[in-house]
Amino acid sequence: MGSPVSVSPTGSPTGSPSVAPCAEPPAAEVLRQDGQREVFCGLTSIVWLHRRMPDAFFLVVGSRTCAHLVQSAAGVMIFAEPRFGTAILGERDLAGLADANDELDRLVTDLLARRPEIRTLFLVGSCPSEVIKLDLSRAAERLTTRLAGRVRVLNYSGSGIETTFTQGEDNALQALLPLMPSSDEPQLLIAGTLADAVEDRFLVLFERMGLPPVRCLPPRRSTELPPVGRGTKLLLAQPFLGGTARALQHRGAELVEAPYPFGVEGSRDWMAAAAAAFGVDPQRVAEVLDPLVERGRRALEPHRRVLEGRRLFLMPDSQMEIPLARFLHRECGMELVEVGTPYLDRRLMAGELALLPPGTRVSEGQDVELQLERVRAARPDLVVCGLGLANPLEAEGIATKWSIELVFSPIHGCDQAGDLAELFARPLRRRSLLSFA
Ligand code: SF4
Repeated sequence: MGSPVSVSPTGSPTGSPSVAPCAEPPAAEVLRQDGQREVFCGLTSIVWLHRRMPDAFFLVVGSRTCAHLVQSAAGVMIFAEPRFGTAILGERDLAGLADANDELDRLVTDLLARRPEIRTLFLVGSCPSEVIKLDLSRAAERLTTRLAGRVRVLNYSGSGIETTFTQGEDNALQALLPLMPSSDEPQLLIAGTLADAVEDRFLVLFERMGLPPVRCLPPRRSTELPPVGRGTKLLLAQPFLGGTARALQHRGAELVEAPYPFGVEGSRDWMAAAAAAFGVDPQRVAEVLDPLVERGRRALEPHRRVLEGRRLFLMPDSQMEIPLARFLHRECGMELVEVGTPYLDRRLMAGELALLPPGTRVSEGQDVELQLERVRAARPDLVVCGLGLANPLEAEGIATKWSIELVFSPIHGCDQAGDLAELFARPLRRRSLLSFA
């Protein structure tokens, strides 16, 4: 894996914390911090997006650092031509921008000549100053016109100044959104990348409950975009898609309010909320979901025995922290020391916040040194964090779980609840084995 990046969006490495009461629910408090943060940038999301849409190509316009980050996050592809790459721009002044555009056009032309199967090309912006000076949206328009519709060229930012790693997906989906056709046909639209097998399972379950057509964003083929309109009920599979949700609502979609599909409880409530939005009889929902709930709870049991009563600290990284904390507390019996999130979208998190135990400390943003001091003072049993923090904490005798694993693993749904709990139980089991060795 590549090194995570440290960025200080405010330029203030020692921003002072403030504690503000959280409106929903009143019992929770939110600690807001603004300082040095330790997270991967949005380029990382290319790793799961390129697997999802094999006919798309992600061309990072960036520096050698960007190339190293994406390549090491994705692993080296030896036998297949990868579906991502980096156009490395050297130092240049403003007068050199025309050359940079020519270079980019030449590179895209060469790429498409070699790879005729590419249907959608994403130009992904990054944070080096020479890239910021380039107008990638104009470049995308210019290239789309030049390619006469054979390939759609889109752009979005994965820059570490603007994005944490899951926001890359939010930005990529928003880039696709203007291409979605309009239709007021009733449908359920699931937004957020799911593992193909997990998605297939949800589609079967929704069909058995009698829902109208269910479509997914992103689709498996980049050109087969689902429609959107006033008949669309939007169900978020991932909690980090605030921008996409707002843009879809702007196109007429209605957001289904539900917890996120992590764990048995969250997954059941997520599916039941979608069914209720279409007026499905709760009895029918129970007939379909009860056996899954039963099986999921049984699968959780051995992991609950490891996790129960253990103290958990989640550092802000993936924006999945609040739903995961809810699952680990309510279904696995863990005690929550602190639940960090890079950004807190109260509207998308209201249902999840209400399920946290009263008085849970939720922190938004990060001042990494201050947060590490809180970790050391609390000595939790497990810290969920980025790769850059895991090794130092392990060296201090604190067990860790890499948050990036949670976006690369199939963790959604009742069927996956046992596997999800196992991801957190494994480091605790390993540590207890080592202490007996
Ligand atoms: S986009 Fe910025 S933070 Fe991300 S790898 Fe490139 S230089 Fe680093």
